[in-house]
Amino acid sequence: APPAEKFEYQAEVNRLMDLIVHSLYSNKEVFLRELVSNASDALDKLRYLSVTEPDLLKDGPELHIRIETDKDNGIITITDSGIGMTRQELVDSLGTIASSGTAKFLKTLKESQEASVDSNLIGQFGVGFYSAFLVSDKVAVSTKSPKSEKQYVWESEAESNSYTIREETDPEKLIPRGTRLTLYLKRDDKGFAHPERIQKLVKNYSQFVSFPIYTWQEKGFTKEVEVDEDPAEAKTEGDGETKKETKKKTKTVVEKYWDWELTNETQPIWLRNPREVSTEEYNEFYKKTFNEYLNPLASSHFTTEGEVEFRSILYVPATKKEDITDRKTKNIRLYVKRVFISDDFDGELFPRYLSFVKGVVDSNDLPLNVSREILQESRIVRIMRKRLVRKAFDMILGISCSENRDEYEAFWENYGKFLKLGCMEDKENHKRIAPLLRFFSSQSNEELISLDEYVENMKPEQKAIYYIAGDSLSSAKNAPFLEKLNEKGYENEEKEKEIKQEYSQTCDWIKKRLGEKVARVDISNRLSSSPCVLVAAKFGWSANMERLMRAQSI
Ligand code: ADP
Ligand code: MG
Repeated sequence: APPAEKFEYQAEVNRLMDLIVHSLYSNKEVFLRELVSNASDALDKLRYLSVTEPDLLKDGPELHIRIETDKDNGIITITDSGIGMTRQELVDSLGTIASSGTAKFLKTLKESQEASVDSNLIGQFGVGFYSAFLVSDKVAVSTKSPKSEKQYVWESEAESNSYTIREETDPEKLIPRGTRLTLYLKRDDKGFAHPERIQKLVKNYSQFVSFPIYTWQEKGFTKEVEVDEDPAEAKTEGDGETKKETKKKTKTVVEKYWDWELTNETQPIWLRNPREVSTEEYNEFYKKTFNEYLNPLASSHFTTEGEVEFRSILYVPATKKEDITDRKTKNIRLYVKRVFISDDFDGELFPRYLSFVKGVVDSNDLPLNVSREILQESRIVRIMRKRLVRKAFDMILGISCSENRDEYEAFWENYGKFLKLGCMEDKENHKRIAPLLRFFSSQSNEELISLDEYVENMKPEQKAIYYIAGDSLSSAKNAPFLEKLNEKGYENEEKEKEIKQEYSQTCDWIKKRLGEKVARVDISNRLSSSPCVLVAAKFGWSANMERLMRAQSI
């Protein structure tokens, strides 16, 4: 075989490794979560591709992860029967920064000016493959892609800034398909190379991986064996004299052997009965699946039957989503018959204004080789979408009914503008969106109120709801439009004809002076102390609307 070829890491990789090692040293155990999640991703990819190319599984249909420990030498191996990597993929994936999770991590680090970053926070990010170097002096990745004839080994030592790639030639190390990672642990971290330690971490970090994770473990069973009676015992019994015949006696012994032990539960949480799943489990699943560090504000787990059958768990995150126009959110993980299909179809399953909702959707009615085109034309998807949207509204309504008013205020602060966009874009759901809306009111002293609360609070003679849009509470409050309303407690009736006549010449004169700059000059009853106000025409956009449209011009 040709000799190993040496490569330098991309500069960012060196920087990233340095950061990981120096900021995560107190949280080293995340390495296992990262490596198991990579194995699980590789299995997901293979399972998905095998739907259209069943041949990919010809080297063994079993999809699993196996973890073996060698405590004497301080070695951990993690083997998956997933998609593996070609030689080029090794270079692209393990020599550069490819992943979005890792990029997100780097960005956060850059943003935080201080050298010491809160390791707890960082522990929540997907720091990826390089976290293997948190505990290892050396890492070897031996991998076989179904696209490649050969198996390749990637090897790198901590702080070497480089790696090598060579062909795997040792026949004992050949695998039919997938990836085997070997971690040569640092002296102080050899304690990780114990089955019990690994099992504890798997249970803690990877309980929602949907492929079986086996650990290689010593086991024992007891059996009864016939043994000669202990001569020492016989002696005491015989009062000093040794008996001539040795008696037979049965004894329980423990026979030891090593075997694979299933370490995780592989039943996906959404297939379980909602009554048997605790809030903690829903929250854990959410945090692990979406790399979040805060519990969600709400969750909803449901099954629909009948015309279309699917199961879903939806969540409202507690973290703010900034960009209303960002469609590539990867917030909804779509499964078909438990097979992970994609997290790239949010836009087909939810309208844009609900793009902050996260969750999983598992359908039995879609084809496994479903594509965006199929989704867009599918009647089934239209029904699913309708149901998902309703469930999302119910879930949000649930937060608004909570005893704790702060929860909905937090929701509104994060996602209020999304629902307002929904008012503009989704006429069909106005009835569902209306009770979710909150407004500041001139009467409510900076507290948000619902439309129902507004109506309850109306003056007996008040016939309409009056509103004004603004980009902040204070600018809305000080808008001259409101002067008269505020004075009256709500609004004005019209008694302006006389005044109009009296001032009609003045108006004409002003219009003449301003010319094209204004459409009309009128007498108005809106004001009480300001002399005049500039307003938008009935069918024109208000200044605030113009701002909103500019912000969303997509
Ligand atoms: P991410 O998982 O977020 O993409 P990682 O740093 O964890 O980032 O992994 C980088 C890339 O290396 C993966 O995207 C994948 O292409 C490749 N990779 C890592 N582990 C495996 C594996 N066990 N099998 C196949 N490919 C893998
Ligand atoms: Mg990863």
